[in-house]
Amino acid sequence: MTMNRQGRPTGVPEAATGGDTAAGPATFTGHKALERDEGLIFEIGSPAVTGVDLEDPGDFETALGGFERTEPMGLTGLSEPHVVRHYTRLSQKNYGIDTGLFPLGSCTMKHNPRLNEKIARLPGFADIHPMQPERTVQGALEVIDTLADWLCKLTNMAAIAMSPKAGAHGELCGMMAIRAALEHRGEQRRTVLVPESAHGTNPATAVFCGFQVKTLASTEDGRVDVAALKAQLGPDVAAIMLTNPNTCGLFEKDIQEIAAAVHEAGGYFYCDGANFNALIGKVRPGDLGIDAMHFNLHKTCSTPHGGGGPGSGPTVLSEALAPFAPVPWVEKAVGGGLRLKATVRDGNTAFGRMTAFHGQMGMFTRALAYLMSHGRDGLRLVAEDAVLNANYVAAGLDKAMTRTYKARPMHEVLFDDRFLKGTGVDTLGFAKALIDEGFHPMTMYFPLVASGAMLIEPTETESRRSLDEFVFAMTKLAEAAKAGETERFDQAPRFAPLKRLDETAAARKPVLRYEPPAPYAQAAE
Ligand SMILES: *Cc1c(COP(=O)(O)O)cnc(C)c1O
Repeated sequence: MTMNRQGRPTGVPEAATGGDTAAGPATFTGHKALERDEGLIFEIGSPAVTGVDLEDPGDFETALGGFERTEPMGLTGLSEPHVVRHYTRLSQKNYGIDTGLFPLGSCTMKHNPRLNEKIARLPGFADIHPMQPERTVQGALEVIDTLADWLCKLTNMAAIAMSPKAGAHGELCGMMAIRAALEHRGEQRRTVLVPESAHGTNPATAVFCGFQVKTLASTEDGRVDVAALKAQLGPDVAAIMLTNPNTCGLFEKDIQEIAAAVHEAGGYFYCDGANFNALIGKVRPGDLGIDAMHFNLHKTCSTPHGGGGPGSGPTVLSEALAPFAPVPWVEKAVGGGLRLKATVRDGNTAFGRMTAFHGQMGMFTRALAYLMSHGRDGLRLVAEDAVLNANYVAAGLDKAMTRTYKARPMHEVLFDDRFLKGTGVDTLGFAKALIDEGFHPMTMYFPLVASGAMLIEPTETESRRSLDEFVFAMTKLAEAAKAGETERFDQAPRFAPLKRLDETAAARKPVLRYEPPAPYAQAAE
């Protein structure tokens, strides 16, 4: 098969099979049933084609002062039906939360309620601009303020920065507040403690902020080793970054003791709030001694993520860190109404700002709609059902697979590859075979504390029926692996439009510029 520079097969029929013998002979067209093979938009269009008829502008005087293009841009040209078909076909190749269960652990892929979408599309929210005069966007300011209030109450924290645009960005915000507080105290603490099971963004954030990371060991039962932690505390420790429930899905039951010890040593406690789905409405992190925590509105509050929308990572701060919260924030205006406090002046100790404007407005409207439509009792049920569903999956798979820790999980459950030992199948093959069975794979090889980790988070929006289907598929795959049916796994995914891609090469050497392929005749030689 000949590949072009983008790594796509050139020429038509061979592309259809990609070595897929399980599906029988190749089709003549390269398409498979009603699923059509789709080229890049550059490949199906041409710069010589246009989808609109514009009149020749005739002679005119340019205002570009000599900066006019001298050559065509080389943009591809297509008609409207071509464009519509291209993107519709691509969308049909995508697996999303609207297609089926999405068991990615840590990521909390839950249903995005359509009510939230409807609210976000109201013209008063969707058609405004961050530079509009404040008096014309009072409703939007009220939404930001009301959401901020809900998030502070749910966590029992003193202040919040609404502007961070993702979980990792919220971590950065929290660690910058910690750094500002330390500077204010005139202290130069440099160490941040991070458990070995932590999400990669935690150590990355600490290092990005100029701290040095020291790794905390876990105990046999998958939790932070409190004695080892206490041994590491000292005058150089700026903070600890901890997730609760941790990334093994287990509740850190010693969290109050950990908070007290860190505070006594003069450090701050950052909590990674990505797993707040297990606690919302049940536990207030402020009561546990936490100084800073980001929300992932795109996880806990069901706003779309991945291809479906941007993230949003509002970050709550304790009394100790509140004075250093970044601008902007919403406050009451002198003459009535609301205004944005947007400058670092007037004696405030804000450390600066995280973004040009105010954060992800479209996510704020969705998140507030989510919180309000659930209410206090509904949010509590969210956490309870998320934990119940994870335990249902754990119980369903305990016979077929090996669970890393015997303790009852919270909202996600961790398996490792011991059940695959001696079968010739590895975690990667197992996860890819799940694609053939109609499911997006679980999180693989994370957290690092488990060998060949498989982290599964069903979320509360899955029905018992869909959980049963998932457990059935996983059980059958485990049985097949143990029965020596390695071909199911070695070649998986057998039925996907594209097979195993070289993801490492794609990440390390991305091809970002389109190069037209050699003419077909040449490529075929
Ligand atoms: C998702 C996640 C993050 C990072 O959040 P983003 O919004 O993807 O930046 C951090 N920690 C944990 C535990 C997570 O699951």
